Amino acid sequence: MKTEVIRLGKGNPEALLRAPALALRRGEIVAFPTETVYGLGANALIESAVQEIFILKGRPQDNPLIVHLPDKSRIDQVAINIPPVFYKLYESFCPGPLTFILEKSDLIPDIVSAGLQTVAVRFPDQRASQELLRLADVPVVAPSANISGRPSATRASHVLDDFKDRIPFIIDDGATELGVESTVLDLCSPMPRILRPGVITAADIKERSGVEVQSYSEGLKKADLRRPASPGLKYRHYAPEAKVLQICSDHENSPDTVVLKMLEQLSDQKIGLFINERSWDILKQRTDIDERVITEYLFSAENSQESAAHELYAAFRALDACGVDVILAEAIPGAEAYMNRLDKACVSESSDIPQDSVKNILFVCTGNTCRSPMAAALFNAYAEKQQSSEITWRAISAGMHTLDGLPATDHSISVLREIDIDISDHRSAQLTEELLAEADLIAVMTRTQRDVLQEMFPDLEDKIKTLSEWALDLDAVSAVDIMDPFAQPETVYRETRDQLRKLIVSLWQKINLPLSD
Ligand code: AMP
Ligand code: MG
Repeated sequence: MKTEVIRLGKGNPEALLRAPALALRRGEIVAFPTETVYGLGANALIESAVQEIFILKGRPQDNPLIVHLPDKSRIDQVAINIPPVFYKLYESFCPGPLTFILEKSDLIPDIVSAGLQTVAVRFPDQRASQELLRLADVPVVAPSANISGRPSATRASHVLDDFKDRIPFIIDDGATELGVESTVLDLCSPMPRILRPGVITAADIKERSGVEVQSYSEGLKKADLRRPASPGLKYRHYAPEAKVLQICSDHENSPDTVVLKMLEQLSDQKIGLFINERSWDILKQRTDIDERVITEYLFSAENSQESAAHELYAAFRALDACGVDVILAEAIPGAEAYMNRLDKACVSESSDIPQDSVKNILFVCTGNTCRSPMAAALFNAYAEKQQSSEITWRAISAGMHTLDGLPATDHSISVLREIDIDISDHRSAQLTEELLAEADLIAVMTRTQRDVLQEMFPDLEDKIKTLSEWALDLDAVSAVDIMDPFAQPETVYRETRDQLRKLIVSLWQKINLPLSD
């Protein structure tokens, strides 16, 4: 099959889209742009066409699809018992990047909803998708037009990369406006709640429609994480071939400073950078950028949230095409949708299973070069001196976003040496699902790390807590974060060491001296 790319440009959309709309209606696959990302479209009423989407993408069958309509006039075909709040939100946000979970009508085949009694519906706000949906005149499922797990497609060329000559039509209407997928809002729960963060936040919904909904982060804390409300959330997503590490700056370390340090640590790797333009300019002044460092897409420092979301997937794909080993991508605190996609892209699938019969405690931090190796060494040293224990606990450590084989930072080594603990031969390890599964107890440093891991691995939820929760019996909300001393002076490392030490003594007692009740 030859893929025909239809460029909209200044042409008449109706004339150009008639053939692909007919094909779509007949049960063929048509990729088209929306304001969020490019979608791989199929007639939602033809089971075999929907099945073809799962096959083309390699998408797990239990991950339901979103049904796209041009407007609400045919909503009754798709959903039943529609609550009044839907119409209220529709007035404020549709067409637009907001997906509604509603009760499913019998007309929609089970394959669309992956067997759920609910269905996801959206009304895209983009001229090509509007016209195509109107001409096809059938509900259209359209997951992102990428092979499952890969970065979503935000340009027609990305769709070609993944599906050239496997689908009959791609509609090309340039880069998508927003660049991250829609906000998914569940209207079937007692209180509307956001299941997937997108450009539209709970605060936007409150402000523009007066409707109170549970935000994504509130939902993460309260949800029954064993059963993800949105099945797609449990899968690894958006990931390029290269390993992705986050650039986490703070008030003392600007992004360019953090990048410089990371470049030093990754001296033998080919690096792709995804940072804001201002930091890039400063970085170029501070150092000679050699050819092992590549940028393809930068984002604007002024409206960084929107701009970074807009370019993220394109940057991942372009840097992959350059053959980089590692992508350093700037973290933007508070950018909920962008950070959600970035966090998911960072999780590694590589496996490194420890073969051990003793009980394992796994300390987890970000880079596995400061906090978690210190914690593991402190724990092992303490446990060795305690004779009373009947169980042999062994601590190991790993990082959520790291590379295998990096040494601990100099200050981590020096402040532990002060108390006769040697971690000079520590080498970092990327956290893997296998390491998590093997561990009997997992202690992370921050609440965010806990939330991310619990969301990704709901089956392991009971084993995953912050160190402070394990050690002090704190509940999830009052847990204390152990901040990253990375790139700070030695005194800060010393404080971190002492904080860890206190918690580890409590932890050791908790796990070895069961409470008498
Ligand atoms: P994608 O098509 O890749 O944008 O993913 C669609 C997202 O919508 C996934 O996260 C799905 O799990 C979610 N979704 C689709 N239908 C439902 C549903 N009936 N209930 C909950 N989440 C859904
Ligand atoms: Mg997708």
